[in-house]
Amino acid sequence: MKSLTFRAVCLTSLSLLAAGCAHEEATSSNQTFFEHVSVIDGSGAAAQPNMTVIMQDGKIVSVTPDASATPPAGATIVDLTGKTMIPGLVSDHVHVGLYEGTDVGSKHFTRNVILRQLQQYERYGVTTVVALGVTRSPLFDDLRREQHAEQNPGADLFGVDQGIGVPGGAPPAAMMHVDDEQVLRPATPEAARAAVDKMASEGTDLVKIWVDTFTNGVAGKAPMPVMSPDVVKAVITRSHEHDLRVAAHIHDLHYAREMVADHADILAHGVRDTAVDAALINAMKSGGVWYIPTISLDESIYFYADNPDILSDPELTHGLSSELRNRFADAGWRKKTLADPQTAAARKAVVMNEHNLFTLYTAGVNIGFGTDSGATPLRIPGYAEHRELRLLVQAGLTPVQALTLATGQAAALMHLSDRGVLAAGKRADFVILDADPSNDIGAVDRISQVWRGGRQMSLTQ
Ligand SMILES: [Zn+2]
Repeated sequence: MKSLTFRAVCLTSLSLLAAGCAHEEATSSNQTFFEHVSVIDGSGAAAQPNMTVIMQDGKIVSVTPDASATPPAGATIVDLTGKTMIPGLVSDHVHVGLYEGTDVGSKHFTRNVILRQLQQYERYGVTTVVALGVTRSPLFDDLRREQHAEQNPGADLFGVDQGIGVPGGAPPAAMMHVDDEQVLRPATPEAARAAVDKMASEGTDLVKIWVDTFTNGVAGKAPMPVMSPDVVKAVITRSHEHDLRVAAHIHDLHYAREMVADHADILAHGVRDTAVDAALINAMKSGGVWYIPTISLDESIYFYADNPDILSDPELTHGLSSELRNRFADAGWRKKTLADPQTAAARKAVVMNEHNLFTLYTAGVNIGFGTDSGATPLRIPGYAEHRELRLLVQAGLTPVQALTLATGQAAALMHLSDRGVLAAGKRADFVILDADPSNDIGAVDRISQVWRGGRQMSLTQ
């Protein structure tokens, strides 16, 4: 019907429209058939072998067995024998423009740095990212619009304008070298409401709050001041009045409990100090609260010091700046890192985070997918997402369950009904792997092709 309509328009149009008509006719009669591929569709279903995925105009037309797919004349055929297709990965917790090389600071919140990072995500098969705050307007708002419209290469971008931090507290300005334009730090409920109003006026997708002392489990480390309860309540109430959901940075169980009791919508990190309990599980389930474990965040603190051999892994090296490579190769840096009390605390945090993720997953809590990649140079955009998939499997999930969190579930967390699964009518955002990850999640490293919005993306820098 669509092509008939376009033809009718063409017949009655003058030459001014002729080029446009030719283009529409060509694309509407020109489907792409991805044949003989195993499909992991992001819904939770197991891999389905010998499938054909039909694509047209940037969307998936159908996912059917090879035997029932007959390409019309003029269709493009892509033979994917031996390969596996998964939906483009969605990361619900990243940051952009916070560092370059090994240097952190507000001066890196630039168009060029952010677009480079979005391209890096895409090369790792992460086609949608959600930057959870520490951003600068209007650049962040412009880039979200441009990525939604596919004006630049790189992952689609959603996220939080600035976010609500604490005066003299989290997120730590001195550590991250972030300035007062990148994080709003209201001291009173009135100022908090004004901060939320500002973010809403800029079109933020969510509101972020930080509720944590930032001791990160290190004994003797001085706690930072935390957000006062009346400011927390003011932020959440005002956000909900704007129909905006609130994602909370937490580390410890008692803050997780408080956030859920105060009707926060998303816990943006895993609980890492102690085991979650039935009270939290029940409150999360009855409130429909989402949980993003971000296990690789703590692992990144020691992973590269533990594994110097990883520098010969081509999967890592294409996401590695020369500055970071030099740091990882430096025996002095490795020794200092391994002796740091933060490293011992981070190892414990990973174990507890994995335990809690498995408990919450098994209990049926809504779980998304994210890493906090891009917040520091060690949390390498895209590579961190591949580490996170491995850690979810280490926590007890099957590879398909882990991939389902990183695709269908991660999209559902963001209410993005147009992506995350491979099905008729969804965006043609997908990754072609050279091996089936069903039994070895490490196959996610073996990326052959990345498609976003029906276009094949370049995998070279
Ligand atoms: Zn974060």
